[in-house]
Amino acid sequence: MGTARLELDDPTLREWSATVVAVDPEQGIALDRSAFYPGGGGQPPDHGVLVWGGVQTRIVGARHGDDIWLVPAEGDPLPTPGIQVQGALDDPRRTALMRTHSGLHVLSGVVFRDFGALVTGSNMEPLEGRLDFNLEGVPEGFKEAVEDAINAEVEADRAIRAYSLPRDEAFAIPDIIRTASNLLPPDIEIVRLVDIDGLDVQADGGTHVASTRQVGRMRVVKIENKGKGFRRIRIALEG
Ligand SMILES: [Zn+2]
Repeated sequence: MGTARLELDDPTLREWSATVVAVDPEQGIALDRSAFYPGGGGQPPDHGVLVWGGVQTRIVGARHGDDIWLVPAEGDPLPTPGIQVQGALDDPRRTALMRTHSGLHVLSGVVFRDFGALVTGSNMEPLEGRLDFNLEGVPEGFKEAVEDAINAEVEADRAIRAYSLPRDEAFAIPDIIRTASNLLPPDIEIVRLVDIDGLDVQADGGTHVASTRQVGRMRVVKIENKGKGFRRIRIALEG
């Protein structure tokens, strides 16, 4: 079974109740229901807190195993299996990460549409992120052109939706192949997609805002030349 992943159905959820199913000195704390994003696809894990019996356990990380394992802050009291807790996410951090993650998908969609370049790597922290592209050379004015284009997509307020499809149907969408075909293990039968209406569709397990306008204005901080055919684009969001 494993932990029910509340954040995948509702990325706006910030507080919920749950039952502790396991506490392990190595792995951490497992709940029956959790909204802590465990990290993946370049998006770092959530932080937050579990409140129980008048005390709290700060959560400083999470990871994906059979369950979602929550990492308690060093020295904090630990709940025992079977008890009820209230979980709560660090909202400013998660909301910033959702905006940043969606902003990177806007960047990916724009650079593919306008320059035909594929993403080869990504990373993000709250309100800043980077994508690596397979891009031979950059034309004059590239940085400004990318910045204008991504902000035009923010202004366009395109809807962002997540949904799941059987693998065959997902891979029938032409654009999926460019980002996901090499990344998805062959035994995955249901593919979760994140779809920015009219701009970008990717296989993705992350948490996203509901429309591009919620990303807010973005700046292209830097274009780095990392070697032949390899360009790194760094963006920053407004706080
Ligand atoms: Zn993503």
